[in-house]
Formats: sequence, C-alpha cells, structure tokens
Amino acid sequence: MKKILAAIVTCTLSVCLLAGCGGAEGGDKASDVGAQSAAENTQSGGDSAADDSGAAAFTTVNEGVLTMATNAAFPPYEYYEGDEIVGIDAEIAKAIADKLGLELKIEDMEFNSIVIAVDGGKADMGLAGMTVTDERKETVNFTDSYATGIQAIIVADDSDIAGLDDLKEKKIGVQLATTGDTYATEDFGADYVEQYNKGADAVMALKQGKIDAVIIDKQPALSFIESTEGLKILDTDYVQEDYAACIAKSNEPLLEAVNGALSELKEDGTIQGILDKYIKAE
Ligand code: GLN
Repeated sequence: MKKILAAIVTCTLSVCLLAGCGGAEGGDKASDVGAQSAAENTQSGGDSAADDSGAAAFTTVNEGVLTMATNAAFPPYEYYEGDEIVGIDAEIAKAIADKLGLELKIEDMEFNSIVIAVDGGKADMGLAGMTVTDERKETVNFTDSYATGIQAIIVADDSDIAGLDDLKEKKIGVQLATTGDTYATEDFGADYVEQYNKGADAVMALKQGKIDAVIIDKQPALSFIESTEGLKILDTDYVQEDYAACIAKSNEPLLEAVNGALSELKEDGTIQGILDKYIKAE
C-alpha cells in the first residue's frame, strides 16, 4: 500500500514537474486520486467510450460488457420468454449497449438487490422499471428518465373497494421495497401492508382472497390481470412516477455516456418505438 502511495506521489509529482503545475494544485490529495482514477478509466474503459468532446472514458464491471441488473418479473418491462429476458428495459439496454459499443449481459435478481448490486460494483446499471426516488438517490445516480409509470390498485372483480378511501384498514399486497410498498406503508400503515418478493405473488394472494388489494405499477398490473381471471384495476391513478436507469455514483462517466445514448435514442424515435411495441394505447 505504502509502495503504491509512493508511486502515485512520485508519478503525480513528475507529471506536475512536466506540466509545470502550481504548488497548491499539485499537493491536493483529492486531485491526485482524481488523476489516478481518470488514468485507470482511460485504460480499461474501452476506446469506444472516448469521444471527440473530450468527455472522460467510462469503466464497466467487465471490460466490453454492459452488465444490467434487473428483476425479470415485471412485464412488460422485463420478463422471461423461455430462457430469455425480454421487454422494454431489455430492448432499451440493448440499444444503449449497441450505442456504446458494448455487449449486453442481463443479471436477474430480487428487486431489492438491484441498487445494492449497482452501488457495490456488481452491475453497471440497474434497469427495472425503477422509479427515481430521493431515497435511492442517496445511494446511486439516476440517468434521465425514459418512461413514466403510475401506481395502480388491483382488486377482485366483486370487491366493494372502489377507490383509495376504501383501502383504509384493508390488507394491501405490495412488492417488497418498491415505491408501491413505500406509499402503501406511508398512507395506510405497515400493519395493513403485506410484502411479497414478486408482484405476481401479491396478485396470486389477492386471487386466493388472502389480501384485499395490490398496489403496483400500472403496466405490470395490466399484464397480471390479463393472465389472472377475476381481478380488475380501479379507475384511480394513485401516484405518477419517472422511470430511469441507476448507475453507481462512482461512475459518472458511464452516467454521461448512457445519458448521451438515451438522448440519441429518444431523438431518433427508438425509445418510443420500443414503448409502443409493448404498451398498447389505452
Ligand atoms: N417502479 C417501482 C419502483 O421503482 C417498481 C419497480 C419494480 O418492481 N420493478 O419501486
């Protein structure tokens, strides 16, 4: 460690001597570290990352690969078709990876683990119909938003629950650690909220009469009621949200690169095309 530090100091000093830096800048520890990681970025980030604008090159967990963390139980954003993970997020991630000259690898995990995996350097980006929230922003950065979501309420066809007010003191199912979980707990109290690992499990519990309602994002809600008889979505829009990809705070160059790719993909209609393919007009 000491040796490495000495090497960095020597290296920085010689760069300084060559470049003729002033004493104040050259001795600043923070900028030494910055110089070091910028140098690493350029070496391992892949040439594809460097552009003419002089933007810093990015690193990825595995060189040449964009590793996306998701929870593939959230149709139409991510779900299995046979062995393959497909859906809006899978296609958007592929388009981003193509733009950045990277191969896409999708890692399926619990929704609750995605932010941890991204923050911990196990995945480059989380793309999972994930809502931008202040709480998550404390741990990770979010890209520009690529879609909006709405929280919906699912009940049994013959339920007497007709709106939000009727949910008071009813058992509400949610997917663990989602925004639906947060809102339900805040608005109706933890005692009335049942958390499930998958949205589909909450819907199954509703179908079996174990709970009275499910609060979940509208698009998966539509897809779940399509495949489960006897359920309906209430005509109330609970909360409107923005979806974005999350990226480690330590990887701002990747955030910039993904935002650059996203803005091109929005401009040329690719994102809208993908959304329209999976989301039927109401
Ligand atoms: N949009 C919700 C959230 O971010 C749910 C996402 C999901 O379950 N994949 O919490």
